[in-house]
Order: sequence, then structure tokens, then C-alpha cells
Amino acid sequence: MILIKENRCDFCGTCVAVCPVDAIELREADISIIHETCIDCDICIWVCPIDVLSSDNKPEDKND
Ligand code: SF4
Ligand code: SF4
Repeated sequence: MILIKENRCDFCGTCVAVCPVDAIELREADISIIHETCIDCDICIWVCPIDVLSSDNKPEDKND
């Protein structure tokens, strides 16, 4: 699951632009992840310029 440090986001929109399944909603000063849609590709984590996004996925979860 993608986690957001909401008080750090500057709402640049970079993560929204790269998400392949449109799972990030950005409305002015409000950002949220649609977890039902997110495929945990982690692309948004890589592109955020100020490290607002992170994942709580543990590698062992993939093997269950
Ligand atoms: S992890 Fe991938 S699918 Fe999920 S919100 Fe980020 S870019 Fe979109
Ligand atoms: S890329 Fe980072 S700073 Fe930009 S809108 Fe997404 S979470 Fe916020």
C-alpha cells in the first residue's frame, strides 16, 4: 500500500502524471491514493521529487 506524508506534498502532480492506472487523485491541496485501483508498481515513489510517497509492502507479502 502506498503511504503519503500529506504535510510534505507540494502538489506538483508528477506522481499523478505517471500512474499507469490513474490511482492518484490530486485536487488543489488534497492528494489521495485509490487503494482499490493501485497495482503497487511503486512508480510514483520513484518520481516524487521530495520523497513524499512510500510503500508499506514487505517482500515476503509477495510470496503468500
Ligand atoms: S504504486 Fe503505481 S499504481 Fe499505485 S498509485 Fe503509485 S503509480 Fe499508481
Ligand atoms: S510527486 Fe510527490 S510532491 Fe508531487 S504531487 Fe506527487 S506526492 Fe506530491
